[in-house]
Amino acid sequence: MKKLELLMPAGNLEKLKWAIAYGADAVYAGVPMFSLRARENQFTWETLAEAVEYCHSRGKKIYFTANIYAHNLKIKPFMANFQKMMDMKPDAFIMSDPGLIYLVKKDFPEAEIHLSVQANNTNWAQAEFWKSMGITRIILSRELSLREVKEIHEMVPDIELEFFVHGAICMAYSGRCLLSNYFSHRDPNQGTCSHSCRWEYKVFAKDASPEELYDSTGRPEDYQELTGEFYLEERERKWELMPIDEDEYGTYIMNSRDICLLSYMQELADAGVVSFKVEGRSKTVNYLAGVGRAYRPALDAVEKNETYEIAELSDEVFAISNRGYTPGFLVGNPGEKAIYFEKNVDLHEEDPVGIVKGYDEEKKMARIEVKNRIDVGDTLIILSPSQRISFTLESIIADPILLNDPKSEDASYDTVPTNGDSRESGHGGHIDLWINMPEKPAEYAIIRKTVKK
Ligand code: SF4
Repeated sequence: MKKLELLMPAGNLEKLKWAIAYGADAVYAGVPMFSLRARENQFTWETLAEAVEYCHSRGKKIYFTANIYAHNLKIKPFMANFQKMMDMKPDAFIMSDPGLIYLVKKDFPEAEIHLSVQANNTNWAQAEFWKSMGITRIILSRELSLREVKEIHEMVPDIELEFFVHGAICMAYSGRCLLSNYFSHRDPNQGTCSHSCRWEYKVFAKDASPEELYDSTGRPEDYQELTGEFYLEERERKWELMPIDEDEYGTYIMNSRDICLLSYMQELADAGVVSFKVEGRSKTVNYLAGVGRAYRPALDAVEKNETYEIAELSDEVFAISNRGYTPGFLVGNPGEKAIYFEKNVDLHEEDPVGIVKGYDEEKKMARIEVKNRIDVGDTLIILSPSQRISFTLESIIADPILLNDPKSEDASYDTVPTNGDSRESGHGGHIDLWINMPEKPAEYAIIRKTVKK
């Protein structure tokens, strides 16, 4: 039986622990300064060292993401810090810049390097080249078809293949885009993308000279917003119309759905993929819980050559925040099906409302950090790596110690206060509250509420 790897994102040490609790075999974490997602990366050198120790003591792997495309100025600091990264003993480095890879391999031949998706490996000849450079694993370009993945594996069988199976994607080849640089002077290849492709744009008409449209005072007063349906047509492609849907929030022509390959895990494994990667270092623990609960059982089944219940597992990914799902290019060009038109419509089925912090076994009540509004009478769900249990919220109690000092260390985590203040509702961002809970929640439990459509 071939060991397959579920590789999940770790935006910080806390998220790393959640990813592992929900089934990750390995995690990837950003190196400060040298990783994409630089703005969301909450690791410091100290917490990164702690992360390595946490993973290795549990038999899990950790890969350091150091995948910037460096400008000249960054080469020296990158190389100056590489020994420090090596000393932490990650299982591999995820890199994309051929120049940096060349320098690292020269000075640290023993460094294990995985080629980042950012390097856009699209064919077997590139895989052959990277193998000759000492790369041991390639994170394939997200724009490949299943047939192409298989062919790369057949042509270069002794290099490991990793593939993104879930999460947000670019509207360009990963990171090969200047939208973010143009709008906010933030370079995706330096880890500072502002996701401009997902912003809301509007279409306007104006019988005006270009000078008026671009004057220094901004948009002229009489500039009229268009109403109706609009399409783009390229001059040489008559009637190949591309919709520009505009609602009251804007247009979304560049706004991609999220990739979800839950139904193709067996096919990807058959094609030679050994590591199944989830995007989202900036996503929440609720997201990690959802993808882990979907992809862990799917991968376990594939490893045992068994089938898995796709509808049930799909519910897990539809429950979490999403932009609608697409299989990307895996089984053909998705065309407009990959565009996310429904912005501002709730596509997710469940809202996270709390994180469990403690449990009173006698009273069957849990202390939760409240994330979103809860009301007595709500149907809630306990979600943990091993549980999905619905129950009715009957009781909410506030601890007087926390009412006095929300951060007090004196408040109990395993005993409901006898002098508690009974409530009809609770709100996120205030104090931890006690709520009834029919069963002891497992570690890393989250409380959710079904979204009212
Ligand atoms: S703006 Fe969008 S397409 Fe461009 S790099 Fe950022 S996420 Fe990717």
